[in-house]
Amino acid sequence: MNYQGKITSRLPFAGTSIFAVMSGLANEVGAINLSQGFPDFPVSMELVDLVNHYMRQGFNQYAPMPGVLALREAIAAKAFDTFGITYDPATEINITAGATEAIFCVITAMIHPGDEAIIIEPAYDSYAPAVQLCGGVVRYSSLRVPAYTINWPEIESMISSRTKMIMINTPHNPTGSVLSAEDLKHLDRITRNTNIVVMSDEVYEHLIFDGIRHESACYYPELAGRSFVIGSFGKTFHTTGWKTGFIMAPAILMAEVRKVHQFVVFASNTPIQYAVADYLKNKENYLQLPAFYQQKRDLFVSLVKESRFRIIPSHGTYFQLLDYSAISDEKEMDFAVRITREFGVASVPVSPFYHDKQDNKVLRFCFAKTEETLVKAAEILCKI
Ligand code: PMP
Ligand code: GLN
Repeated sequence: MNYQGKITSRLPFAGTSIFAVMSGLANEVGAINLSQGFPDFPVSMELVDLVNHYMRQGFNQYAPMPGVLALREAIAAKAFDTFGITYDPATEINITAGATEAIFCVITAMIHPGDEAIIIEPAYDSYAPAVQLCGGVVRYSSLRVPAYTINWPEIESMISSRTKMIMINTPHNPTGSVLSAEDLKHLDRITRNTNIVVMSDEVYEHLIFDGIRHESACYYPELAGRSFVIGSFGKTFHTTGWKTGFIMAPAILMAEVRKVHQFVVFASNTPIQYAVADYLKNKENYLQLPAFYQQKRDLFVSLVKESRFRIIPSHGTYFQLLDYSAISDEKEMDFAVRITREFGVASVPVSPFYHDKQDNKVLRFCFAKTEETLVKAAEILCKI
């Protein structure tokens, strides 16, 4: 087929997402895939049975536009329990087709042409394109290496009357760093009495280690009053393929997001929402996650300690950064591709998470894998 017309791309600089590229390469060459973030172990059969149950019971038609009420109620109960915050399930919680849809709807509901959004890099790949599609302007701040901490003076210097949104992500993909209470208080202070809204991407809220408390925007009432807090059951219940996420926000902000959500997917899929609502009632299903993933992180770290890679501490998410500057001075993308092809372990370069492709000789490895996979991968990494 041949299209003869002229196309002016709305995202001229967007290529294919690095996750698709590296997973595709891993599949092509049969490498162990520690690139795209997803678990390689089975999902809870109880949860699968619940989905099955609701499908068999006939819950197969459109869900209500904002999501199944039982799930919104379960999310409200969990937020109250965890953070002591009250969200109204009727007006302040919305179920989305994964956190990806949540992010897109929040940004497109808020950003007008010319508005500025502050993104802290390295940043998840879907934030900036959504701003650009709205005709917004992205202002980029960088986390300070080597600990990947926020540069608050830089962010403050970027704030102007045009600033509409600041996006944060904790625990942080791709670095595994986590924000502190001081960070959240800082954000609270600098956005108070402004028209700036905050998008707080907390999809890894339960994947946090070393006894650290997850610093949600929900803990800080003023901040929560101007924040969209985003979560994902793909992360929490090892079901990335189910694409079920949620947003919590004050009603007046949520009303705007729903205007967009209804035209993006209308509603997220029905039986999974009912199943997750039931599954959330047993708190153990998420409270055991820090210990579960910390054990995987510790195993992976202990195994690659003997390698020539340098370990950059990960306190949350299911990602571990490894610095390879002692091995090669190749660019991250080149090195990631070469070790996938030559050695059979796929990872994700961090440079695509920077708009200027900043190259710090670091790769991201996903440790949401079985012990067997981690042992095999680490054996290979130790030979590089
Ligand atoms: N934000 C971050 C930081 C992520 O790592 C992911 C995972 N892909 C998402 C959002 C999107 O989550 P989902 O798979 O639920 O769309
Ligand atoms: N969040 C996952 C990652 O960072 C995958 C995201 C995706 O495939 N879009 O690897």
